[in-house]
Amino acid sequence: SDTNRSSTKEERILVSVRFRPLNEKELDKNDISDWECTNNTTIVPKNISHERSMFPTSYTFDRVFGSDCSTRQVYEDAAKNVALSVVRGINASILAYGQTSSGKTYTMSGITEYSMLDIFDYVNKLEDRQFKLKFAAMEIYNECVRDLLSSDQTPLRILDDKERGIVVDKLTEVTLKDWSHLKELLSLCDAQRQIAETSLNEMSSRSHQILRLTVVNSARKVLGSNNSRTLAATVNFVDLAGSERSSQTLSPGVHLKEGCHINSSLLTLGSVIRRLSKGKHRHIPYRDSKLTRILQNSLGGNARTAIICTLSPAHSHVEQSRNTLLFASCAK
Ligand code: ADP
Ligand code: MG
Repeated sequence: SDTNRSSTKEERILVSVRFRPLNEKELDKNDISDWECTNNTTIVPKNISHERSMFPTSYTFDRVFGSDCSTRQVYEDAAKNVALSVVRGINASILAYGQTSSGKTYTMSGITEYSMLDIFDYVNKLEDRQFKLKFAAMEIYNECVRDLLSSDQTPLRILDDKERGIVVDKLTEVTLKDWSHLKELLSLCDAQRQIAETSLNEMSSRSHQILRLTVVNSARKVLGSNNSRTLAATVNFVDLAGSERSSQTLSPGVHLKEGCHINSSLLTLGSVIRRLSKGKHRHIPYRDSKLTRILQNSLGGNARTAIICTLSPAHSHVEQSRNTLLFASCAK
């Protein structure tokens, strides 16, 4: 029933869809928008009369945002509560999924900044200064994990540490002094990404970027059997690789071409999310990819997750858009 759905929704994955506006290139080619947001949870395809039998006539998500919505609005309705759960000690992940040029980076960079501002604000308002904030950033490309805060580009290993859980070994973690310190680190990440991009073609469409903020509550300890740990929670902001690399497996009846480059982290993320959204919490294939291993403590369990699927409204992208909507439907 509906009450059941809303009561379990809190633990599940919050799935939203955001359309960017048609861009100049699309407008120049007289490309048209295929989709209409009929209310703030429903999308209806506009030109479907001839293919009514093959595709859904409407899609429903937790929230949908049309081309005219601001990133602030997307943040407030689709990410804020999830991001702010870290100050209550709950891990969180916010992910942007979609084809290249659909607006993932545009959306995630805004959401990341708004979230971090709100978390800073919350922490600064507390009188006893019991919270400490730590920042780390990494990129996964071809199943190699690299530190975005270090000039050493040696791939990092992921360890299953007895005490600390899953950790990225040797990842730089910086304790933040203030807001401008964080802004400096964010531009350092951007610079690192750009250096890599010039040497590797299409890097940004094939790599996953994870920005991670950890809130450490130094006043409270978790008491274990032998030792006590400081209470900490982490929020991950994930700008995923372009979904065009994995969408073939999502289309029914289409088989993978041999030699086709597949982003295994993106595929595994899809399986993990589909299982979690069905309420299955056993045999989740976290270990099958670097991305899902790194996010393991912030996906499923009592962690909060928000996925924002970004789309181009253009008719020329209708196939990729359908794949993205299919992914989003499976996630909710
Ligand atoms: P992706 O990261 O998915 O490849 P980008 O975020 O780089 O896509 O977006 C592609 C282009 O579209 C960029 O120039 C970006 O500024 C623009 N863009 C994306 N989303 C929006 C939006 N909602 N409003 C205005 N411009 C957007
Ligand atoms: Mg991008």
